[in-house]
Parts: sequence; structure tokens; C-alpha cells
Amino acid sequence: MISRLAKARRIVVKIGSALLVDQKTGAIKASWLASLVDDIADARVRGTEVVVVSSGAIALGRRTLGLAKGKLKLEQSQAAAAVGQITLAQAWAETLRTRNIVAAQVLVTLTDTEERRRHLNARATLSTLLAQGAVPVINENDTVATSEIRYGDNDRLAARVASMISADCLVLLSDIDGLYTAPPGKKGAEFLPEVKDITPEIEAMAGKPVSGVGSGGMITKIEAGKIALGAGCNMVIASGHEMHPLKRVLDGGRCTWFLANASALQSRKRWIAGTLQPIGHLVVDEGAVEALSRGKSLLPAGVRRIEGAFARGDTVSIMTAKGREIARGLVTYDAGDALKIAGLKTAEIEKVLGFRGRDELVHRDDMVLMGGERA
Ligand code: GLU
Repeated sequence: MISRLAKARRIVVKIGSALLVDQKTGAIKASWLASLVDDIADARVRGTEVVVVSSGAIALGRRTLGLAKGKLKLEQSQAAAAVGQITLAQAWAETLRTRNIVAAQVLVTLTDTEERRRHLNARATLSTLLAQGAVPVINENDTVATSEIRYGDNDRLAARVASMISADCLVLLSDIDGLYTAPPGKKGAEFLPEVKDITPEIEAMAGKPVSGVGSGGMITKIEAGKIALGAGCNMVIASGHEMHPLKRVLDGGRCTWFLANASALQSRKRWIAGTLQPIGHLVVDEGAVEALSRGKSLLPAGVRRIEGAFARGDTVSIMTAKGREIARGLVTYDAGDALKIAGLKTAEIEKVLGFRGRDELVHRDDMVLMGGERA
């Protein structure tokens, strides 16, 4: 069987602090990182796009700042993150450079992926970075985060990123090699290679946090699994303790797969079609109806009329002149700007609005045809 990881087109790899930062010296584990970067380079040669979510800023920065051992206060963690993030990003950039890969630092807060307007921007930026061949290295923007920084936050962050960019596989590398029916080592604890549904029984198997410098243990990984699977993204929990941790998964090493029962694109389209109530209407001409049915994006040129006070990122209905809803999607301009550019050619947008916005009013990835999808 070809590994599911080998088949994935777009993956998110999350690395826990404990793997990347030596607990004794507080330094980056450079040779381990180099081995992971080798695996990332190999994945890209196979045609898989890779996004990294890397923890480690606090673990690195606390040592540099000379903060005492033990639990840090929130403001100390935030200060440590500000210092450590520089070292972390530098290590990634330098190591990726040895394989001729450009690194891009992306700091997000959990709400960036929840709030739709930011979601569209973050999604577009990450897609552009990937299209340009860069590897985005993401961490939470801990320094400005308003809530308690908890270990394991990055498990959920990675799942939200995976959902946002419609990744088909999320790899959680940590100090645990997968899910067991009871804490590993306990009598009767059995290893589970595959999980098809996150049931209350599966949730009950998640134990307490186990590692010293990072990782939320299983609980946050199961929560990440719910987000990923809901977005049509498979998830795999694997140990990052050995060198070449991705290759290990490819070679059939022990890990637990959580399997989504829909594809990422199907899930995203279902989310757009079902969960969100359209806030406005765009009435389009026949040419646009035709283009949309061929899987194209909606350009301003095809829009005849605009109704509703929608904001960027809101869901709008795309209707024919006769009032039939043909599609639904996330709009890239607010109602005021959309009114100004309706009917105009894409090249005229900048002149009218005074800034360079997106070419499409609704991008095809953010749109679902109501009469059924063409692939
Ligand atoms: N963002 C934190 C850091 O880089 C880690 C949070 C986590 O371990 O999930 O130090």
C-alpha cells in the first residue's frame, strides 16, 4: 500500500517544542532539524506542498532571558516567545536554505483562522507562498495573544491551518508514537493504528500531558483531530524522537492515522453551502452563469446588481437575473466596493478603488455551485 502520506498533495507538519529544543542545553537540536528538513525536501520533490507549524519559541527564549526553571507567568512566557521566536525562525530559515528552500515566517493568533475576513487573507497569503515554492513556518503570535498560552495550543492551531488551506494531511510529530487504549506502559494498553471516528471512547483514551517542555499530550491532539477530520483532512500522530520522522511514517513506522470520510474540498464546499447564511446577493449575467458552470471564478465584469450590506469574507448568494440561486461563496470585497466595481473589467479595479485588490469577486475555491459540483 502506498502510504497515505505519500499520496497527500498538501500537508501540515506540526513539531512540538520537546523535539526541537534540547531540554538540558536549551538549544535547537540542529541535526534532528536537518533530518526533518531532508524529509520535507523529499516530499516537495514528490510534488507535496509542505507547511510547518513549529513550537519552541518559549522553550528557546526562556533560557536566553535567564528565566528560572518551572512554570512561567503569562507575561514571562510572552517575553520568552518574543526572544525565542527569532532563534526559531532563524534555525528554520538556515536549515531550509541548505536544501535551497525559502522559509517564510507566519505568526498567527487562533482567531485569525476563525474570523472569516482574516481567514481569506491568511489563506491567500499561504497559497501564494506555496505557489512561489516557499515553506511557511507558522507559530502562534504568543507575544500578543490575549489568553493564557497553553502547551498544546499549536496542535489545534495546526489543525485550523490545515483546515484553512484545505490540506489533505496533518502530521503531528511529538514524543508519543500514537494513540493507545490506556496510557502506554499501563497493563492492557493497546496501540491503535487507525481511528475512523472520534467517539467519546476515543476521547476517553486521551491521557494527561506527559512531556516537560511542550506538548499538550493526547487531549489537544484529539481536539486537533476533530478539527482536521471535520475539514476533510486526515491526521497522523507519530513520534518525532528518531531522525527522519516523516520518512519513518512513509516507511510504515508505528503511528496512528485518523481518517476523514470526505475530501478537504468537499468539506470546505459543504461548509460554505450549508453552515453559513448568505448575507447578500450578487445578480450576474448569462456569461458569468456559463463561466461559473465551467468551474471559473466570479469576476466583477459579470455582476449586474448587488444587494445586501455584506462585509469581506461574508457568504453571498450568486443569482441569475430571474432570481435562481446558482452558487454561494465567500465574497472578497465589501458591499460598498463591490458596488463600485460591478460590471468593470478586472484591470479597472485599481483605478476605481484606489488600491490593488483581488481579481475575483468570489474565487472558485470559495464557491459552491448549488445545482451540484463539477469536479
Ligand atoms: N507557541 C508556543 C511556542 O512556540 C508553543 C505552544 C505549544 O507547545 O503548543 O513556544
